[in-house]
Amino acid sequence: MTIDLQPLFQKKAPSFLELEFQIPLTEKILSELDSEKLTTPIKVKAIFKKTKEGVLGEFDVEGKIQLTCDRCLDEFEKDYYTHFSQEFVFPFLDFSDNVYMELRDEGYIINEKNQIEINETLRQGILTSLPMKKICKEECQGLI
Ligand SMILES: [Zn+2]
Repeated sequence: MTIDLQPLFQKKAPSFLELEFQIPLTEKILSELDSEKLTTPIKVKAIFKKTKEGVLGEFDVEGKIQLTCDRCLDEFEKDYYTHFSQEFVFPFLDFSDNVYMELRDEGYIINEKNQIEINETLRQGILTSLPMKKICKEECQGLI
C-alpha cells in the first residue's frame, strides 16, 4: 500500500497528517513463507509528522490472524493489536548519521512524489506483535 504524504509538504502544511484506512487481503502483506495468515482486512490508524530527515509514522494496527497451535498443531484465529512507529527518510540527503543510513539502506524511504510504501512496515509490526508461544486455548491438551 502506498501512502501519499504530499499534504505534509505543501505550503501551509498541517503539523501532522492523520489517516485511517483498511488494507484489503488482496494486498498480500504476509509473504508465502509466513505460516501465519491474515483473515480480515488490516485496520490502520496512522499519524505522520515531519522530522529533520523525513517523516515519522506512528501506527495503530489491528485485525484477525490465523495461527497454528504449538501444542496441537490445529489452526486457530486470534485478534492482534499493535502500536509501533517507523521513520521514513529522504534517500538523497548527505547524512553520515547511522540511523539515517540504516533506514535508507533498508528501503524506508520517501520517493520523489512524497509517497511511502508501508507493506513491509506492517508485516514486521504484525509479526512482532504475535505471542512467542501460540496456544489455541489455555487448556489445550496437545497432540493425543
Ligand atoms: Zn491447541
